[in-house]
Amino acid sequence: MQFGGTPKPLSSRRKRLRLMDGFSDELYPHSLMMYKKPPLCNVTLQEFESYAFDRVKVLHYLDTLNVTYVKHSQEYKDKLTEFLRKNYVGFVLTSSKDIGQRELEWRRKDHISHFILRLAYCRSEELRRWFLEKEVDLFKFRFANEPSHSISEFLKANNLTYTPISEEEKDKFSNHLVLVTHDISRAKLQSSNFFKVPFTEVLNLVATRRVFIHKGYAYVPQSDLISIISTCFRESLSKALACTARSLPGLEEDDRLIPILKGFNKNAFSEAYDPNKNAGKVSIKDLDEFSKTSFPLCMRQLHQVFRDAHHLKHWGRLQYGLFLKGIGITFEEAMKHWREEFSKSIGEEKFNKEHAYNIRHMYGKEGKRTNYSPYSCVNIITKNTPGSGDHHGCPFKHSSPELLKQRLHSYRISKEAIDEIVTLMKGQHFQIACTKYFEATHGVEDAGFQVIHPNEYFDASQAIRNGERKPANRLANQNDASASSFVPNWSKPVQPTQNEMTDSELDALMSEMPEDI
Ligand code: SF4
Repeated sequence: MQFGGTPKPLSSRRKRLRLMDGFSDELYPHSLMMYKKPPLCNVTLQEFESYAFDRVKVLHYLDTLNVTYVKHSQEYKDKLTEFLRKNYVGFVLTSSKDIGQRELEWRRKDHISHFILRLAYCRSEELRRWFLEKEVDLFKFRFANEPSHSISEFLKANNLTYTPISEEEKDKFSNHLVLVTHDISRAKLQSSNFFKVPFTEVLNLVATRRVFIHKGYAYVPQSDLISIISTCFRESLSKALACTARSLPGLEEDDRLIPILKGFNKNAFSEAYDPNKNAGKVSIKDLDEFSKTSFPLCMRQLHQVFRDAHHLKHWGRLQYGLFLKGIGITFEEAMKHWREEFSKSIGEEKFNKEHAYNIRHMYGKEGKRTNYSPYSCVNIITKNTPGSGDHHGCPFKHSSPELLKQRLHSYRISKEAIDEIVTLMKGQHFQIACTKYFEATHGVEDAGFQVIHPNEYFDASQAIRNGERKPANRLANQNDASASSFVPNWSKPVQPTQNEMTDSELDALMSEMPEDI
């Protein structure tokens, strides 16, 4: 595939370092890019797919980090650096004057993969928003990693007219600079960099009196520059995505690229749970007991509400219904379970008319006949925030600490464990809080895994309760192969599967569902 047009003849370019298709380091003067110009090169279909898929995995990793860590906190940065170093080192390579072939290849890959994902993620408002958010996060992380000399080069290369102030100027205004920038002491002033920015571009800093202003310029410390540059990056990418969306119909005719592009929309990182893995292993007569002993809190809550109210709203039905399918409830049993409960509130006839279709749909017996997978934690935590009267979502993310405390207390969880869980919840470590809940309800010191999927939670619980797996011992599990095999490998590349429900498929399924009574 060729992006954007014909490359310039070789003779017109500086003959320094070249890639296979004739691209030199002139085109990639910096490791960071604003992605203003599309790549003008030939890309094989194999490269097209692998470059973009790698970038999707990085963006999805950012998504999972956002669930567990506070954005851009030290822990967040450490985890991301570790992940990138191990898998995609190009994203942590900072700019240097003497770049080698390897760095140049990475820059090209960065450039091309970004533009491919623009094509994949411009297709709907929701996808655009997700892609924009993750690209800005990645950009901010990379920008913060760059050394100060490289920041100046980046600004120059992108015509961003923010000039670093000279040492003389810094000395001259040192009193003012220390006075307004509270986090920079006089001792740190020498090693800190300031940039001159037209004050109209940093009105938020001006309003909060966090910058020194002189002759129409605000003197912005490098730590605050990141928010200005990332705003430029966001605005430019947002416009570019809208433009790409408008020109997309031209691409629809290419039947080689469209299936690949659509595939990237799937959640490549979270494990796609095989919905047939446990088929028939659990019967509906065991559900009440299992809900107390082996269901994660989100599903225990949904089960309880379903039993009490004989009804669940849209997203609750999907979250709970697909989970039941994943633990092994067969289609026939599921139909019986839903019919029995719904009949108590709306009657059997109305259930058959309004809800039976959706159960058949969930099991791939209607519509596109897709065998949908149960939702992962990331999906539950980040999408479809529950509103009033809803019971879906993740209780560690969507409940108030008071409500959660009350609920855990009623489940006879020890005060110590409740305090620990609530602290984790307040720190936005939702899945770690869920893992603590697992440990508290299974009487184990170390679960030996981190919860990333409600169905894996159920499987791990059953394995412990049936004696198929010993709980890991925090101090002595290093050589225990069975325990370590249970630890989800966050860096493992996971291929998207055909049965992972995409947003558009989900929308289609939702649109086919009747309104709640
Ligand atoms: Fe459910 Fe996952 Fe939340 Fe646990 S962390 S309650 S399994 S969504």
